[in-house]
Amino acid sequence: MALDPDCIFCKIIEGVIPADIVFRNENVVAFNDLNPQAPTHVLLIPTVHTENAAGLAKMSATITAAPFSRSDRHRSGVKWLSNRL
Ligand SMILES: [Zn+2]
Repeated sequence: MALDPDCIFCKIIEGVIPADIVFRNENVVAFNDLNPQAPTHVLLIPTVHTENAAGLAKMSATITAAPFSRSDRHRSGVKWLSNRL
């Protein structure tokens, strides 16, 4: 699935809109939220466009179930917490 030129998240993935990216691999990009709702508020988005959560659920299990490997988690220097890992 291609990126959508009208999507703000796709523009962040392409670097058209700057973001404070804390992690990136072939499946996901994580960046600090511009309007954080907690002391640490990171958004994790897939590197392919999706219209909504239902579209995300239809994507490859590589992206939805295991977006980053164990070595990615260690290399990033970020402690990853999720109810899916
Ligand atoms: Zn998009």
